[in-house]
Amino acid sequence: MKFDRRKFIGSAASAAIFPQQVFAAGSGARLPASVDAVTLSGGTTSLGKAQLQELAGALNGSLLLPGGDTYESARRIWNGVFDRKPALIVQSSGPADVMQAVNFAREHNLLLAVRGGGHSLAGKSVCDGGLMIDLTHMNGVHVDRQRRVARVEGGALLRNLDHETIPLGLATTSGTVSHTGAGGLTLGGGIGRLCRQHGLASDNLLSVDVVTADGKLLRAAEDENAELFWGLRGGGGNFGVATSFEYRLHPFDDEVLGGAMMYPLDEAAEVLKFVNDFSARAHRELSLSGNIVMLPNGRGFAVMSVTYSGDLRKGEKHIRPLLEFGDPVRKGVKRASYRSLQTSNDRQLAKGRKYYMKSGYLPELAPEYIDELIARVEPSPQREQVIVMTQLGGAIRDLPADATAYAHRYGEFDLMIGAAWDDPQHTQANVDWGREYFAAVQDYTDGFYVNSLMDESQDDVQRNYLGNYSRLVALKNIHDPGNLFRMNANIKPSVSTG
Ligand SMILES: Cc1cc2nc3c(=O)[nH]c(=O)nc-3n(C[C@H](O)[C@H](O)[C@H](O)COP(=O)(O)OP(=O)(O)OC[C@H]3O[C@@H](n4cnc5c(N)ncnc54)[C@H](O)[C@@H]3O)c2cc1C
Repeated sequence: MKFDRRKFIGSAASAAIFPQQVFAAGSGARLPASVDAVTLSGGTTSLGKAQLQELAGALNGSLLLPGGDTYESARRIWNGVFDRKPALIVQSSGPADVMQAVNFAREHNLLLAVRGGGHSLAGKSVCDGGLMIDLTHMNGVHVDRQRRVARVEGGALLRNLDHETIPLGLATTSGTVSHTGAGGLTLGGGIGRLCRQHGLASDNLLSVDVVTADGKLLRAAEDENAELFWGLRGGGGNFGVATSFEYRLHPFDDEVLGGAMMYPLDEAAEVLKFVNDFSARAHRELSLSGNIVMLPNGRGFAVMSVTYSGDLRKGEKHIRPLLEFGDPVRKGVKRASYRSLQTSNDRQLAKGRKYYMKSGYLPELAPEYIDELIARVEPSPQREQVIVMTQLGGAIRDLPADATAYAHRYGEFDLMIGAAWDDPQHTQANVDWGREYFAAVQDYTDGFYVNSLMDESQDDVQRNYLGNYSRLVALKNIHDPGNLFRMNANIKPSVSTG
């Protein structure tokens, strides 16, 4: 059956006459006679009251249908460009709910989205008309201080992780914006302030509990389901719903050296060339990025973002050339709390604004490339623009490209070109701007970070897994032959057309 979007939205709208469509034990809400939902092949299927009742009754968490604030907040993700409305949302309280939801989606052949922190740039964690598994309430973090291990539930945010580990003098690699989901970030790799020192977030995994497409809960680790464990470290959400992660923690002092040096935009070329030169001799304890920021009012800056998380006296000596470089308009690098740095970008990158971001790995920051990047920076009143080049290398490169599914271990910088805006009327123009900008500089890039998936074609996605692709397909054939988990940088099974 072909999916009639208007009809579907009509039925979703009529469902909205119910003030709050939360079906949990004791909620008192009445289930509708049926719900139309989108299938994996893009058709529709009608789910009857008895089927809905069975699902709702099997959950410890809630089944949400369109209507009411709880449904609205569960479906809204970070990138406000995506205004999708799932037919059903299972807000799970633990692995058993996830198993119920996966079984229900598979048995009814429903389009399925899995939402962790909701930061997918491309909106992959929410679907129109299908079933969304929302892990928001599965955000617990337990630290075993003795073993230096954190057990983190699949929907926890990075701020939940840092909150429990840092006060105990322990940390692992996470990302640079605290409202990002630990789950999505880790499954795709996990680049952050500590990755040059301790490897990717996924390199620090000891085990993952995952509900696969057959509804089974598996433990994946070096000593159990080792091949699945390999694929979960860089293969994104392709193999199931990760309900918890165990991370190795490292002794860590919250006091680091960090902050930003800001320069006038007309010094951007010198600043980025300096970043490139300095990066060649940077300690692993140093996290460094060279950025360009252009505000809608026409003011622009070049920025060096710095975090040094080793011995502070050594660090002060090491970063002195950075602090003495050029004529900054703001010198903001000082001794600071790591946790304050981890939240310092949170407001700028707030949930619900509209964003377009596109990324690529750079083998080097060649001077002619820097000139080309800068030549294209033009102010526009309809968007904020940011170009970020984050240094990689260090411990990421200690492992070979086939050690885990994350294949791009040799990229020197991660380039990100991004725009943010609020007015939906500007969406098309800003997306076009981002696409054109990236297309003009793309020749210098070599692959892209899975977690920055935007609008790449399926061929691009396939190529991007490099030599690991065929091994990933073999794994997908075992754990998800019907491609139930397809809203991601998709690895298509070869045993089924999915
Ligand atoms: C503001 C911002 C800052 C960022 N900063 C960084 C950074 O510093 N470092 C970095 O490496 N990346 C960063 N990213 C990229 C980020 O890693 C990805 O967007 C990642 O997918 C986010 O995970 P999430 O759980 O928040 O996202 P979601 O949108 O919930 O999910 C993203 C994808 O992962 C899947 N998924 C999520 N959780 C699970 C789970 N438990 N089990 C199975 N599948 C799951 C989803 O189905 C979806 O395909 C940033 C993104 C944003 C928007």
